[in-house]
Amino acid sequence: MQDKFDVIVVGAGTAGIPAALAAAERGLRIALIEAADDIGGTLVLSGGSISAAGTPMQRAAGIEDSAERHFADALRINHGTGDHVLLRAWIDRAAETIDWLLSLGWTCTPFEPVFAPEHDLYTTPRTYRSTQQGFSLISAYRGALEKETASGRIELFLGTRVTDIVMESGTATGVVARHGEQDLRLAARAVILTTGGFSGSARHWQDIHGIVPLRYHIDTVVGDGIDLVRGAGGALWHEDTLLPSFGGTRDLGAPASAWVHSVIVPSVRQPWEIYVNENADRFMPEDEPIIDARERAIMRQPNWSFWVLYDEAIRREAPPLFKWEPDKLESLFEGFDEDYVRADSIAQLAARCGLPPARLAATIDLYNRGQAVGSDMLKRTHLPRPIAEGPFYAVRHYGYSICCYPGVRVDHQLRVVDDEGTPVPGLYAAGEAIGIGFLGHGFLSGGIVSSAVTFGRRLGQEVLA
Ligand SMILES: Cc1cc2nc3c(=O)[nH]c(=O)nc-3n(C[C@H](O)[C@H](O)[C@H](O)COP(=O)(O)OP(=O)(O)OC[C@H]3O[C@@H](n4cnc5c(N)ncnc54)[C@H](O)[C@@H]3O)c2cc1C
Repeated sequence: MQDKFDVIVVGAGTAGIPAALAAAERGLRIALIEAADDIGGTLVLSGGSISAAGTPMQRAAGIEDSAERHFADALRINHGTGDHVLLRAWIDRAAETIDWLLSLGWTCTPFEPVFAPEHDLYTTPRTYRSTQQGFSLISAYRGALEKETASGRIELFLGTRVTDIVMESGTATGVVARHGEQDLRLAARAVILTTGGFSGSARHWQDIHGIVPLRYHIDTVVGDGIDLVRGAGGALWHEDTLLPSFGGTRDLGAPASAWVHSVIVPSVRQPWEIYVNENADRFMPEDEPIIDARERAIMRQPNWSFWVLYDEAIRREAPPLFKWEPDKLESLFEGFDEDYVRADSIAQLAARCGLPPARLAATIDLYNRGQAVGSDMLKRTHLPRPIAEGPFYAVRHYGYSICCYPGVRVDHQLRVVDDEGTPVPGLYAAGEAIGIGFLGHGFLSGGIVSSAVTFGRRLGQEVLA
């Protein structure tokens, strides 16, 4: 063994940095190992929205809230699913997490809680928008981390990927890591895995879910936690849980990624368009207000894919569908990108989108007939115009993923456990490495970052205590 630490933290992202900082505060000596060349992990992409009840921001806004109400709301949104003990453990400490982030210089804007319409709404505003999305957390973390690396309590290994956990008599006692051409062996009394989810790994998606959807991720978040834990005798959980986000468009600069470039949330913009799946069928009332129902509807469609379809009159009269400038959109249609199609007739549109032409014509005809008399077959109520005036437009949208529900199975002390629930001594995990399945089968706005920071910090406070 090359060097001996008290704790090795694998992954210097959302959960890993708070783990290392909290452990260092207790005087422990930490190796913080990061595969990428800089700290931050998924925070470089993340909205950095955080939720918590009983915060200074709520008090300043005169909003009464409590962990009890947050928990009750969470169970309403996730339909009673998830791990209630862990869920409550996060919620009970979430306000403390906010206090800690504020003490590091993290800021949110405005200094007040919001409802986040991209997810089903809490009954009380308790989501905080980081001033510069995930970068607000990174800069808060960076300052604190610099102090601890200068003090020598944390040694930061960048560009270093952990490839194995060293097990001695069934106990995790260190890691093997790759730095350039070199293998490092580091020893410690405890190993904390904060390696993030498996969004960057098509292999894990295929193995676990049997589908490889569009995913938003950084290159180094590839499910290493899962592979490392399997090698150490640990188990996975929540493999059956899966819920996409609704309506990303392909980012043409990064084909593996998706993000929302169109305004597709009905509470923000009512739809003028229709949605058709790869069979050219409508599959939901486009003005369905419940985000959870929208997400579940897209999950039932082939390839989680659908076309948002409209005509020239809608393009001209409706509030803008896209957040992009009109020029950018025009260049996409002009460039004949396969996901952005404009055509003079419905038949031509169908041919270019790969949709069955007769079926598409029938779908549009049925929609137009219902629209004319104000009675839609799918019970849509916002019916401003028929789809009748060429040219016709279709933009492919997707159900996409920004996070993983399955992950490394842990107990209520965040110890990695095997299939029987028995802890693997010396091995802990937090953040998306444990999956977000414990939060339940439904999106809790700002719940992933908040719980990742909370649990990372909790491990740093409790490990080896
Ligand atoms: C586009 C997008 C927007 C989002 N917006 C929000 C939001 O607004 N609110 C919210 O709550 N959630 C949001 N999320 C989800 C949330 O940001 C992430 O789930 C969370 O940041 C993950 O934190 P983590 O610490 O588990 O992993 P990460 O922050 O990804 O950190 C994991 C780190 O481990 C490193 N690593 C991986 N394997 C190894 C290895 N073998 N050796 C060494 N290092 C390794 C990685 O390089 C990475 O730095 C969003 C996600 C995306 C993609």
